[in-house]
Amino acid sequence: MRKTKIVATLGPASTDEAVLRSLMLAGVNVFRLNFSHGAHEIHAASVAAIDKLNAELGLHVAILADLSGPKIRTGMVENDAMELKPGDEVILTTDKVLCRNGIISVSYPDFARDVKAGEDILLDDGKLLLKSTESDGERTVKAKVVQGGILSSRKGINLPRTDLSLPSLTEKDLEDLRFIVTQNIQWVALSFVRKAADIEELRRQINQYPDARHLRIVAKIEKPEAVDNAVSIIRASDAVMIARGDLGVEIPQEQVPIIQKKFARLCIAASKPVIVATQMMEGMISSMRPTRAEVSDVANSVLDGADALMLSGETSVGLYPVQTVETMSRIISDVESSEIYYPEIKYEDTLPDRRISDAVIMAAADLAGKVNARALIAMTHTGYSAFRLASHRKGAGIYIFSNNRQVLRALSLVWGVEAFYSEKFTNTDAAMLDMRKVLVARGRITTGNYIIYVSSIPIGKPGKTNMLRLSIV
Ligand code: ATP
Ligand code: MG
Ligand code: MG
Repeated sequence: MRKTKIVATLGPASTDEAVLRSLMLAGVNVFRLNFSHGAHEIHAASVAAIDKLNAELGLHVAILADLSGPKIRTGMVENDAMELKPGDEVILTTDKVLCRNGIISVSYPDFARDVKAGEDILLDDGKLLLKSTESDGERTVKAKVVQGGILSSRKGINLPRTDLSLPSLTEKDLEDLRFIVTQNIQWVALSFVRKAADIEELRRQINQYPDARHLRIVAKIEKPEAVDNAVSIIRASDAVMIARGDLGVEIPQEQVPIIQKKFARLCIAASKPVIVATQMMEGMISSMRPTRAEVSDVANSVLDGADALMLSGETSVGLYPVQTVETMSRIISDVESSEIYYPEIKYEDTLPDRRISDAVIMAAADLAGKVNARALIAMTHTGYSAFRLASHRKGAGIYIFSNNRQVLRALSLVWGVEAFYSEKFTNTDAAMLDMRKVLVARGRITTGNYIIYVSSIPIGKPGKTNMLRLSIV
């Protein structure tokens, strides 16, 4: 069983139900809906198709809705391709026009007010670079192409040296959130997070919808301020995404690998899932095979201890979405079967009200290592013990039983966790027997295996894990 999970972005290449099914069978654990692209009706159709396939295939594949945040984009490009050559003069305009003949429309109304002459304008995760030469302060900015290439529709614009007057949650995000809360979605990601208060504001917005309290928040790390505020952002969030596309433009790209490693450690220590994203297998957008460097990047991200690796263009617009997932899955499995995989982890001090639960879970994880247990088994209503057990990164399978379907699906993002639905248990002994039966029937454990249960006695007191039991099947 693979421990590191796979997140796949949906798009024109993958919304077809047959492709979705193949992606799920190839091992996608979480689908990402990118609200920068695609209308609500398309996302709603994807959610419905995933629900149907989950039921049919007996899976708990989760859905992550990625809010655009204050991302500035280019408009639609004529024939979806415009060549920009070094030295070319281009005009960026806030008028809503089709991009052609060196005229590029931008989605941010204050663009010409904020951008000053001499500033860098990066397009498409930094693949193209322009330098502004003149701004009229109202509607247009003139710029010279420094690094050219092909510009296609709706690419991101980064202005690393410009002071932007954008809020972290835009009107569009709030509108998208109103839609998201009506859908069977478990995770919502916020782009361009700068500080913990950005996350807290999104949580306040979510909490206004009584039916959406289960939604968990992913902080996308792609601004220098977010790197500076790592600890408080991790504490305020439910998970973190190292969004390397924008991050590598907003800060010098050579700093990205170490930032990835630092965040991975901090997140594991805080029991918050960490996703590594962007350009993991970029070459597979148009090629059947990844490059050696891409294979190494996937492998090294697994070795960093990531909970999940994410695919963007590879599965949303690429030619080989299913093969990409299959290839990624093979690389992950291979790395995980190596004896150098399981990392040493330094834990954060736990909160006083969690001290007993956390100590029992840590003892269980320790014991699993010492007796080479096959399974760590827990029931949970909130998911807490699952996140916590996973963060110890042990070789034993982590099997979580819950009657909360939103928790079952949310846990698809979490390292090493496999979740099963169970009715509410009323008695600890009966529950342990039932869970064991399920795992034997599924071939997860077999006669002679050591298995470890963590639970609460009396059963059903949330947040109080006070029992640990070792048995032999
Ligand atoms: P983000 O900063 O949120 O990652 P992005 O524009 O980089 O935004 P990705 O999801 O990383 O988007 O996808 C990479 C590229 O694939 C996009 O720039 C876009 O060209 C294309 N793409 C992704 N999803 C869609 C979609 N649903 N429809 C059309 N094109 C898409
Ligand atoms: Mg991207
Ligand atoms: Mg981004």
